[in-house]
Amino acid sequence: MGNIKETTLEIDLSALAHNFNFLKSRLQKKTRFLAVVKAFAYGSDTVAVAQKLEQLGADYLAVAYTQEGILLREAEITLPILVLHPQPINFGKIIEHGLEPNMYSPRILKLFIQEAKSQKQSDYPVHIKFNTGLNRLGFWESDINHIIGQLKDQKAIKVKCILSHLAASEDANEREFSLGQIQTFQKIATELSEKLGYMPLRHMLNTSGILNYPEAQFEMVRSGIGLYGFGNNPEIDKELQPVASLKTVISQLHKIEPNETVGYNRAFVSGGYRMTATLPIGHADGIGRQYGNGKASVLVHGKKAPIIGNVCMDMVMIDVTDIDCKEGDEVLIFGKELSAETFADSANTISYELLTAISQRVKRSII
Ligand SMILES: *Cc1c(COP(=O)(O)O)cnc(C)c1O
Repeated sequence: MGNIKETTLEIDLSALAHNFNFLKSRLQKKTRFLAVVKAFAYGSDTVAVAQKLEQLGADYLAVAYTQEGILLREAEITLPILVLHPQPINFGKIIEHGLEPNMYSPRILKLFIQEAKSQKQSDYPVHIKFNTGLNRLGFWESDINHIIGQLKDQKAIKVKCILSHLAASEDANEREFSLGQIQTFQKIATELSEKLGYMPLRHMLNTSGILNYPEAQFEMVRSGIGLYGFGNNPEIDKELQPVASLKTVISQLHKIEPNETVGYNRAFVSGGYRMTATLPIGHADGIGRQYGNGKASVLVHGKKAPIIGNVCMDMVMIDVTDIDCKEGDEVLIFGKELSAETFADSANTISYELLTAISQRVKRSII
């Protein structure tokens, strides 16, 4: 204990390897593995994580936006990279960096074909996304003939993959709906491939999909949160290891008299004598105001200390009255002994939001 000197997000690449191998063990041998590394690899470290995944044998990477893909190419990652949510203004850069865009609407498809033609591309790989019930991004089943119309008489692009996304893959109560989505996707893929004259790779499952719908792996699956140690299910969480641990130190201790207050707007009122610790981490680091006022707790020497009062931009105060600690001691915000899922749940959010909110000013340390 105690080599942490400032707020640090530790990234454990052996935990990443463990999670990758666990998820792989749930796949058929021939199923390809697309690792989702959007949002700084779920708030960790894009390049370190992507390099490790490449080494572990991931077949594909995916990011949300073009700029995230460019970062990977600049780090000399050579795996195919799917850009899930590209905007037309970046289509030139997508081709320049050899990224594979997701085509999610007639407008996007038309504009990307134009760009690929103007750059004299042939068979440039794209993914076509169908909406099967999430109602977020994607073509409708009724767009198939439109897509075929756009694709014929051109050689600039070629459909490498077709995909869809489940709306509630973690929710057993929505099993029927999910199975309906899978069935619709299968039907769409068959119709599209018949009309194309070849079969693109199909991918639909996210982490919870891999765990709950093994029959729908098709040729590839897309996993994000599972790689980082969370499976949206307490049983699965036991099998996985958290990749990120957020640690900080006690900057200062304060003895608080009865009827004093702590922090902005005097939100914490002391009932009696209290000992508080001020930590160098706040909402600008990703610990939002929802965690304050007693909602979330951190660990000091293995003991729970609640965050009291309002979370400040660069600080939080915790109650350490019953904990023997001193200035400079290490504090665990979340990690192996206190899971990010538990911390997030204390403020009614989820590990995805907590992890991806950890801001870029927090030091990353790869272990
Ligand atoms: C983020 C994302 C994923 C990864 O989902 P997890 O639940 O983190 O495994 C997969 N597919 C799409 C389309 C996504 O946006």
